[in-house]
Amino acid sequence: MTVVSHNVRDLESFLSGSWRSGKGEGKLLVDAATSQPVARINADGLDLSEALNYGRSKGGAALGKMTFHERALMLKSLAQILMEKKEIFYQESFATGATRKDSWIDIEGGIGTLFAYSSKARREMPNTRVFTEGAIEPLSRDSTFSGQHILSPLKGIAVHINAYNFPCWGMLEKIAPSLIAGVPCLVKPASQTAYLTELMVRHILAADILPEGALQLLCGSANDLVDHVTGQDVVTFTGSAATGQMLRQNPSMVRNSTRFSMEADSLNAAVLGSDAKAGEPEFDLFVKEVAREVTVKAGQKCTAIRRVIVPRDAAEAVSDALKARFEKLRIGDPRDDTVTMGPLASAGQRDEVQSRVEELRTEAETVYGGSCSIPEKGAFEAPVLLYCDRPLASEAIHAVEAFGPVATLMPYDTIEDAVALTHKGKGSLVASLFTNDPAIAEEMVLGMAPFHGRVLIGNRQSAKTSTGHGSPLPMLVHGGPGRAGGGEELGGLRSVKHFMQRTAIQGAPNLLGAVTGRWVAGSNGRTESRHPFRKSLAELKIGDQLVTRERTVSLEDIEHFAEFTGDTFYAHMNEAAAKRNPFFEGRVAHGYLIVSFAAGLFVEPQEGPVLANYGVDNLRFLTPVNAGDALKVQLTAKEISPRISADYGEVRWDCLVSNQNDEPVAQYDVLTLVAKEWPSSS
Ligand code: NDP
Repeated sequence: MTVVSHNVRDLESFLSGSWRSGKGEGKLLVDAATSQPVARINADGLDLSEALNYGRSKGGAALGKMTFHERALMLKSLAQILMEKKEIFYQESFATGATRKDSWIDIEGGIGTLFAYSSKARREMPNTRVFTEGAIEPLSRDSTFSGQHILSPLKGIAVHINAYNFPCWGMLEKIAPSLIAGVPCLVKPASQTAYLTELMVRHILAADILPEGALQLLCGSANDLVDHVTGQDVVTFTGSAATGQMLRQNPSMVRNSTRFSMEADSLNAAVLGSDAKAGEPEFDLFVKEVAREVTVKAGQKCTAIRRVIVPRDAAEAVSDALKARFEKLRIGDPRDDTVTMGPLASAGQRDEVQSRVEELRTEAETVYGGSCSIPEKGAFEAPVLLYCDRPLASEAIHAVEAFGPVATLMPYDTIEDAVALTHKGKGSLVASLFTNDPAIAEEMVLGMAPFHGRVLIGNRQSAKTSTGHGSPLPMLVHGGPGRAGGGEELGGLRSVKHFMQRTAIQGAPNLLGAVTGRWVAGSNGRTESRHPFRKSLAELKIGDQLVTRERTVSLEDIEHFAEFTGDTFYAHMNEAAAKRNPFFEGRVAHGYLIVSFAAGLFVEPQEGPVLANYGVDNLRFLTPVNAGDALKVQLTAKEISPRISADYGEVRWDCLVSNQNDEPVAQYDVLTLVAKEWPSSS
């Protein structure tokens, strides 16, 4: 066994702009593998009400002045710095019992989440401070009164109360969406492993990237923290269901309708499809995934597989294959790089797991229980595999979460039974299904979906590229209904919106446009002799407009376009057939001909600040165009989003094509990249 000596650090909290210590002795935190003291933690006597106010006023004000893109770039810089320093965190992480592979999920997985949110926000949000959601809702016939949903950052603080199992990822995956939204955070890590979070926060603050007040840290007990929350704050929680339910009922939270997101116990299932017999690739993939999910981080993952649901005739083969994998484990101090599974985070957790296993044993027999050797000292626990022959008639195996390397194998007889077994978890973060049969995939996934936040389908085709059962991804929902807490963390912009207020605004189009910074149909445009494509971003204004001359579409145009492109669809080429079509009165112009003619009408051909057209959004053809119709275009600068890290930005143009009777023929957004300056100064 490696001998390690730690300096016992007195952990501090970073509150109201300075590092502070609690009053009194504090609690000693020990290394999970060696039981040596690592740190002392204490938050007694700290003024948490003041800290929340400080975050709201200082951090909220500073973040509120920044655009989504500025906040996103701030996260990217932070992620780069943390990545440079990652070895410091890896070294500290050993004390939590994590092997280097376990720590990768926590440390680099967490930093990766910052990168992912940074790029998602810059791609999917405008470079503004208000997020416009969905289309304008017309509320009057003459377009003088419309509605629009907007999202703006809450004026409170996000209080993130985290679990002990992911001291880095748990913090980073929550601060990323909060900070993008523009809401400051106060992070309260679980005491057991807070020394690693504290170390990372010290490096974050030392980097001096976040504005003052954007991030605070509370090391130690939460004391009266939640009693001071308001209706503009958000509380997120990961941990035990008991604590979560208590927080949900906190009088301040109830009185103020404080937003609360909870992620608690989840008895996640893995299901083997009835097609996946021993010898099939899906059988092997299933066994590998279950063994990995039971043992990674010694089973202390919210997404770990607790219930292994298999066809009755496959139960013995699955059990034998899992036992063979568990036998190969090397359990020990994670500093030894031959070790494949470390200890639980603390002796308390080990005792807790052992007592939960006893509860499970009231309904299930032990088929594998710790025959591989484990070190005597430290919070070690060997894998436990239980078997329950009558799972539909059992309760504890679906309800008792042993938060360690523990799983229960349970057989099913029909697909309906397998689905019903997944439901008995009463709501989980994730389930996985291993099948290569599309019919089984359809029936089971649709059956399982209402009870799960995520469902992974594993088969031979995705085996090499699958991110696996246990990995929450920044772009996909992480959270689950019912027992899993009912929260929805991550999931791209969905989680950013959790920290913002959605408001429906109603009014005249020009006033809606003033609020959203977008041109709204129905407002006046600004036409002038200079073509808007001659204007750089420095000169272009929302509402700058071009109204083109008319161009008449002839039958020759339609035939030429058909021959040239190969699109000789009957509605363009055959008068009699077109007449039989319920939508047309005769041959019509191609939709793409209309779009092409529109481009020909609005284009400004000389070299200039418009650099590229990168697509169109929301294209709709509204009125058929027949030979003899005359098209014209109204093109209006609708949204301008300069990129911070480039010398150009995106411009979205509202493009309305109409005919000689002023009927709308086609409508869409044209998306262009436009130089910030023209001629460029470089
Ligand atoms: P807890 O619910 O006790 O703690 C979770 C977090 O809540 C910690 O930061 C803790 O702080 C904090 N907390 C505890 N009491 C309060 C309170 N009164 N007010 C505000 N915050 C509070 O869970 P544990 O971390 O001890 O884990 C216990 C069990 O929870 C595990 O064995 C497992 O079954 C389950 N769990 C489930 C997870 C999941 O995602 N599904 C993740 C982690 C755990 P402090 O540490 O300072 O007490």
